[in-house]
Amino acid sequence: MTGLVYKSTGSWYTVKTDLGDTYECRIKGKFRMKGIKSTNPISVGDVVDFELETDNNQVSGIINNIHDRKNYIIRKSVNLSKQTHIIAANIDQVFLLITINNPPTLTSFIDRFLVTANAYQIKTILLFNKIDSYDEETLNEVKFLAYVYRKIGYECIGVSAKTGKNVDKVKSIMQGKVNMFSGHSGVGKSTLVNTIEPTLDIKTKEISTLHMQGQHTTTFAEMFDLTFNAKIIDTPGIKGFGVVDMDKEEIGDYFPEFFALKQHCKFHNCLHVQEPNCAIKKALDNDEVAFSRYRSYIQILEGEDEHYRTDNWEN
Ligand code: GDP
Ligand code: ZN
Repeated sequence: MTGLVYKSTGSWYTVKTDLGDTYECRIKGKFRMKGIKSTNPISVGDVVDFELETDNNQVSGIINNIHDRKNYIIRKSVNLSKQTHIIAANIDQVFLLITINNPPTLTSFIDRFLVTANAYQIKTILLFNKIDSYDEETLNEVKFLAYVYRKIGYECIGVSAKTGKNVDKVKSIMQGKVNMFSGHSGVGKSTLVNTIEPTLDIKTKEISTLHMQGQHTTTFAEMFDLTFNAKIIDTPGIKGFGVVDMDKEEIGDYFPEFFALKQHCKFHNCLHVQEPNCAIKKALDNDEVAFSRYRSYIQILEGEDEHYRTDNWEN
């Protein structure tokens, strides 16, 4: 049988088949892991094959195969062992909630998020939340940011989790997909999910820590089916994505507008800093590349702004 992993406790996996039947499954013996080394061989969002086993009239599943992942997000533990934990796999898209104030979301944070999501190959949609509460000046800031990000290919929607404005639009994008919601604490993630699906109260889910393999503590994600043919992955206590190790030359490739231009740079390995005849610097001078985007790029390149590192997004 084949199913999708909805939940994991470290030793048991809740797996749902296409028919909607749910089985508690385990891994027997040593499981052959594909790809990366991680503390958990299987994560929420994985597609697995399993066989049923009956023990004392109790039916459970034994997982014997894991399908190739389209993508996955990881977290590295902060302790010395730096073990990798797979938070979730096979995510179709992530909605990044942004507020101009209460709390402010800085463009450096947005851009770092987008770079990480691109590196993970996860589509991001930008949701400017709380538009019901903004004055004209703040709404103009939203418009400007939406202009900047639409121009480089990101879908931007002004929403209000409170009044329900444009929530139908969000729901239609979510249909048929595995979705995640991200953003700073206080931007309205729980409120929005609650507006989208009032019966699903993921807000009450506090950070749950489970002990795995010695001292390694971690949190587990969980997948939920929504009533309008959409799935959502809730990642308690995890506000962002893990760190992706990148070479300096690679960073610009995750800025779509840089990637489109870099073939016109004089040097094929141009870092777009001091090099002569750099197409990105030229576009910056012509206002074709947004200054805030270039500034974020330089920050990531120089590795400064440590508190925006994505591994510190949890709170
Ligand atoms: P989370 O930490 O991202 O889950 O944020 P919450 O959903 O807990 O929301 C934080 C605060 O923002 C709460 O007081 C919400 O009532 C408020 N809030 C959320 N969405 C909106 C909105 O669209 N408009 C307004 N005015 N307030 C909102
Ligand atoms: Zn260049």
